[in-house]
Amino acid sequence: MKRWNGWGDTETYMTLSPGAKELLVQKTGEGTPQKDSDMESVLAKVPVSKLPEHSIISRDAQSRLLHARGQSMPDWIALRSGQISSFPDGVASPTDREQLQQVLDFAHKSESILIPYGGGTSVLGHINPRETDRPVITLSLNRLNKMLDINERSRLATFQAGVLGPELEDKLHKAGYRLGHFPQSFEYSSLGGWIATKSSGQQSFGYGRIDDLFCGGNLHTPQGELHLPVHPSSAAGPDLKQIVLGSEGRIGILSEATVKISPFPEVEQFYGMFLPHWEAAQRAVQYLAQNQFPISMIRLSNAEETRSQLALGGHDRLNQYIKRYLKMRGINPEDACMLMLGFTGSKSRVKYAKSEVMPILKGKFNAVNMHRFMGNAWAKTRFKAPYLRNTLWDQGYAIDTLETAVTWDKVTQTMQAVEDSLRYGLEDRGEKVHAFSHLSHFYTTGCSLYTTYCFRIASSPEETYSRWQRLKDAASRTIIEQQGTISHHHGVGADHRDYLAAEKTELGISTLQSLCRHFDPRGIMNPGKLVE
Ligand SMILES: Cc1cc2nc3c(=O)[nH]c(=O)nc-3n(C[C@H](O)[C@H](O)[C@H](O)COP(=O)(O)OP(=O)(O)OC[C@H]3O[C@@H](n4cnc5c(N)ncnc54)[C@H](O)[C@@H]3O)c2cc1C
Repeated sequence: MKRWNGWGDTETYMTLSPGAKELLVQKTGEGTPQKDSDMESVLAKVPVSKLPEHSIISRDAQSRLLHARGQSMPDWIALRSGQISSFPDGVASPTDREQLQQVLDFAHKSESILIPYGGGTSVLGHINPRETDRPVITLSLNRLNKMLDINERSRLATFQAGVLGPELEDKLHKAGYRLGHFPQSFEYSSLGGWIATKSSGQQSFGYGRIDDLFCGGNLHTPQGELHLPVHPSSAAGPDLKQIVLGSEGRIGILSEATVKISPFPEVEQFYGMFLPHWEAAQRAVQYLAQNQFPISMIRLSNAEETRSQLALGGHDRLNQYIKRYLKMRGINPEDACMLMLGFTGSKSRVKYAKSEVMPILKGKFNAVNMHRFMGNAWAKTRFKAPYLRNTLWDQGYAIDTLETAVTWDKVTQTMQAVEDSLRYGLEDRGEKVHAFSHLSHFYTTGCSLYTTYCFRIASSPEETYSRWQRLKDAASRTIIEQQGTISHHHGVGADHRDYLAAEKTELGISTLQSLCRHFDPRGIMNPGKLVE
């Protein structure tokens, strides 16, 4: 069963090893667990719905609670404390395009707010209703999850947009194909959500990000249906797919999407290795990215993340062995940076890629290859790491992530500046923050930088929120100062909205606002997200 106030299913629980506990205490202090609200008491607070009865819209308190918040830190604080300021007035789950259109027409006529909802894994408040006098309908796409067509000759597949990651890959696998889009939220996020937030999967180096995979579809807007035909490429003016990608439910509801598919790989192998220090490690991944080696995944942890990941992985004895081994190979374990690589494709392609990449990493950058044992361990738990959020919260720690992308010349300075803004962000409150980073999603021009930070939850939800807000603001301002993007793949939602103008300029923001008004003159589509 899916957790209502945390991440993932209730059957999966990660434990903290003594080594992990020790690290957290050393970095942030003894955890300060707080009592969570139970579901019954939160359900009792759900207000009376403002919506009249409608055959496709359910107004029961439980559905409304389960669609009230996503996975951002403010969402967690609200759900765990039971202090939830707004709920949808009803949840619609259409089963076909006609029903979807009926809900849209109803919302338009009644000037209700309409929030498209894929998997609800947004980490930026995308699907949260605002406090408003207007009725709010959350439109869940969970029943629109079919594969509609597979065009093997052109390597295209068309799905209803509510399909979740595992169902989508399962259907493609049965036909011998793969999409290859694996965000860490894969288990619970949807195709429509990926497109609407411009997401990027762990193997983006091989398969591309969702922008590269999305080829066309159908968007139901309050002004009518926008059909995006599939062409291999086109010079027929600006590409309208680009206004759907990242549109965050502001201009319409994507009911169907056609995506590029690849043959299911004959071989897929992940390798873990250590680079002796950050300087060598950063140069190594830049080299791999700029020379476009046929690798499906590159993920480089800095030294702080390497130590933290090893500790949080929970294998204290194995970690001691790794440290001894690195020392023997002339690497100081305190400086070591962990690199994960994925090789995917036909047997011959994988063999060729490894024979090209491994000698370069060893010869040019002094990498120590831990072979597939570390890669296999990573692959086994690739979607499990977010479950640690539940464990840490229960032990009194909040953990959150943020991300940007910068050009190669700015990677190291931005990483240090963002980490420092977090690490010292609560110093005047006597609180320590643990921050560490990795690089993922690589381009010839630069890469994305992903920072995780952990701080203690406070005795009141207001203070926990205030700690988070202080940190988020400090890091977001730093990203802007460093000329990074406010988001490489999480999107904008509510939490990045006020930082967007620094990147888009006032003219850019008014262009986006005009676009929203054009498709949605009555302002019913997910207002307050992306742009005001
Ligand atoms: C633990 C965890 C790990 C994550 N890892 C990654 C990662 O590796 N890479 C990454 O890119 N992101 C990641 N995310 C962020 C999140 O999963 C992505 O933003 C994802 O794309 C959201 O998909 P969803 O279906 O859950 O969308 P939702 O959260 O339901 O919605 C997000 C936005 O999209 C809109 N939307 C959804 N469906 C439609 C539709 N059919 N038509 C129009 N608008 C729609 C909504 O209105 C909303 O504005 C992670 C989140 C969590 C909690």
